[in-house]
Amino acid sequence: MNAPVNVFAAATKAEQSLASTHEVVNVARELRDYNLFTQDAVLQQAVQREAAGWAQDELTAFGALTGQAEYRELGIVANHVKPELETHDRFGNRIDQVNFHPAYHQLMKVAFEHGLHSSPWTNPGPGAQVARAARFYMQAQVEAGHGCPVSMSHAAVPALRATPEVAKIWEPKITACAYDQRNVPDRDKQALVVGMAMTEKQGGSDVRSNSTQAFPVGAEGEGQLYELVGHKFFVSAPMSDVFLTLAHTSGGLSCFLMPRWRPDGTKNPLQIIRLKRKMGNASNATSETELRGALGWMVGPEGKGIRTIIDMVAMTRFDCMIGSSAGQRIATTLAIHHCTHRAAFGKQLVDQPLMQNVLADLALESEASLTLAMRIGRAIDHRADRAEELLMRFGTAAGKYWICKRTPNHAYEAMECLGGSGVMEDSPFPRLFRESPVNAIWEGSSNVQCLDVLRAFGKQPEGLQVYFAEVMKAKGGNARLDRWIADLRQEFADLGDLESRSRGLVDRMALALQAALLVQHAPAFVADAFCASRLDGLGERNLGALPRGVDCAAIIKRAAVDA
Ligand SMILES: Cc1cc2nc3c(=O)[nH]c(=O)nc-3n(C[C@H](O)[C@H](O)[C@H](O)COP(=O)(O)OP(=O)(O)OC[C@H]3O[C@@H](n4cnc5c(N)ncnc54)[C@H](O)[C@@H]3O)c2cc1C
Repeated sequence: MNAPVNVFAAATKAEQSLASTHEVVNVARELRDYNLFTQDAVLQQAVQREAAGWAQDELTAFGALTGQAEYRELGIVANHVKPELETHDRFGNRIDQVNFHPAYHQLMKVAFEHGLHSSPWTNPGPGAQVARAARFYMQAQVEAGHGCPVSMSHAAVPALRATPEVAKIWEPKITACAYDQRNVPDRDKQALVVGMAMTEKQGGSDVRSNSTQAFPVGAEGEGQLYELVGHKFFVSAPMSDVFLTLAHTSGGLSCFLMPRWRPDGTKNPLQIIRLKRKMGNASNATSETELRGALGWMVGPEGKGIRTIIDMVAMTRFDCMIGSSAGQRIATTLAIHHCTHRAAFGKQLVDQPLMQNVLADLALESEASLTLAMRIGRAIDHRADRAEELLMRFGTAAGKYWICKRTPNHAYEAMECLGGSGVMEDSPFPRLFRESPVNAIWEGSSNVQCLDVLRAFGKQPEGLQVYFAEVMKAKGGNARLDRWIADLRQEFADLGDLESRSRGLVDRMALALQAALLVQHAPAFVADAFCASRLDGLGERNLGALPRGVDCAAIIKRAAVDA
């Protein structure tokens, strides 16, 4: 006869095995607190080199703030809970109110209180743009979307200064280091946010096709008040207190400063029709608007609207370079971090030779992007010098095109380093990936940037000499680069079909500039790897195909925050 089964003991065993199916091992962990400045050798060196060493202490403090895991969480939440439009209040009054998650406001508050929108204007001098760019770079690694209104507020100042009497009234509140999110008249606020409304349905790149009309209220011309009638198809940060916009007068396309509220405290009829449903850049609302007699002051000369607003656009293009460099940096950081903590086939991923190749290539791209962006930052700081002015003109167009264009593939490749978990919505990568094409498309899409490079050289042919003088500073430092520059010169011997060739040309010019900067300033293991992989004439290849002889481990170590 069988022994009686002890059902209670069996149940206990089952319960035990249900309670513990497996041990969780070999998984990465959340990147905890770190310092985005002191743990970024490339950034620190760029800041020193480009004359912003005086900002070291302030950047160290900002790096600690932006590196806090709790602070970075704001970026996640601000994108998770999307902005919502309320056109009217519950009583039926038109309010054009966009509600954001408090995390968005918190990010805006930090950015504005730290002068990311104003410090080069309120404290100009050597390194002013570079120091501000360094802070923007760190903040953009936390969250990219709110960078749009920060950037527009910063960029508006040079355009506003075209008409000193308008700038005198508005600039103090625009540059104030404070943030006031309330939907109230600007007269009741001490700090204002600026937006930009150029794009219309029938044309974004070609704003000459704008159909919005401006009618004088009294006297006509610069500094005078007009009523604007028309529409704008993309208006980001629609809760901004003022917008720079374009409209036609009898004298041609002109620039206007258009506030949300009229001076008498009533709402300016700049009406939000709906919010765009964007694939990325989710924290930042982008709207479609109609202008139904919205008041605006003319900024800059009548009929010279594009020339006036282009000063703003140039600065936002620079921020696109910084913003995309920041996207590359955080993607690289996260990929290296993951591979440091995850093993496969008997080794940590970061020690597997092929993964080392991928990670090192991601890091090279990221270093080259920031190095180029910061060099252009210095050119902006020194634009009183004619050569620096010309370099800035070329560099913002070419750099905006090149860095932003390289970012989506970089984001994707970094995502793949995390394997399947990288694709999951609770990983940081879907947000980084969705954000990655945006900078390339707005503020002048890729083709427009390449054509702008041609335009710059067409208008100021000495700019080409300035460009070659800049890259020749690295002469003799790397044989591949020397050959590349010599070949590039030959390209300009034949000026046929320039427009259709311009992407290829600008690609090569941007690469030469990045390589020249790295050869002069980066460790040899970085510069040589960059030249060997980008200037070898083998054509396009995927990331992770660095040639033999590259010291991948050294490149990864330089980029890692916790390796
Ligand atoms: C998320 C987001 C937010 C935005 N926020 C704002 C905002 O706040 N304010 C604002 O004013 N705009 C904003 N924009 C609009 C943006 O600036 C435009 O989408 C952009 O300038 C391109 O204009 P478009 O969409 O009309 O495209 P188009 O001008 O029709 O261009 C389409 C394509 O044609 C190419 N192209 C154009 N001209 C030429 C040419 N001569 N030769 C070859 N190729 C050419 C372009 O490079 C582009 O690839 C935003 C866009 C996005 C995506």
